[in-house]
Amino acid sequence: LRFETCSVNLAVEQVISLTGYQIERQNIQLNKQLNHDIPFVEGNMQQIEQIVINLLMNAKDELEACTHSNKNITIKTSVQERGGSSWVMLSVSDNGRGIPVEKQDDIFYPFYTTKEAMKGTGLGLSVSLGIAKSHGGILEICNREEQGSCFCFMIPSHTKKE
Ligand code: ADP
Ligand code: MG
Repeated sequence: LRFETCSVNLAVEQVISLTGYQIERQNIQLNKQLNHDIPFVEGNMQQIEQIVINLLMNAKDELEACTHSNKNITIKTSVQERGGSSWVMLSVSDNGRGIPVEKQDDIFYPFYTTKEAMKGTGLGLSVSLGIAKSHGGILEICNREEQGSCFCFMIPSHTKKE
């Protein structure tokens, strides 16, 4: 597998240019909050984009199943200091129904899905977790005080700035 210097912001932009219309078509507002002063990461661009696609499509699917108005997804990049090193963090949050605490481990298992047969395979999060780990990174549900879900992907940062 080819690892190269990657921009997480670029991965987000590329995924949004391909999938943004599918989100807006559902009357979902997509808020993009990219920090352009973040470091590069070492990784595989296709795999990083795959994580972004999976998280965005899960947020979209969730909101499609909801009936409230003011549906929104926020996709954000930032730098985080944790455990004495710096990480690039990508978070995707939505104002859907959220994930019950007792399901928060199950959703990362292969083939766990709550969607209809043709709509979900249950592989998105397990594949994304595998990609995160192979990059020395983390994929987790972050705490959310408001309604909805928030997923965070953290990847060790390169020293060079974008
Ligand atoms: P799939 O999307 O094919 O169902 P995933 O592995 O991507 O498989 O997700 C597994 C399950 O996790 C989903 O079926 C859904 O129940 C839950 N899930 C994932 N993301 C969200 C979200 N943003 N909001 C609510 N539930 C979610
Ligand atoms: Mg999915």
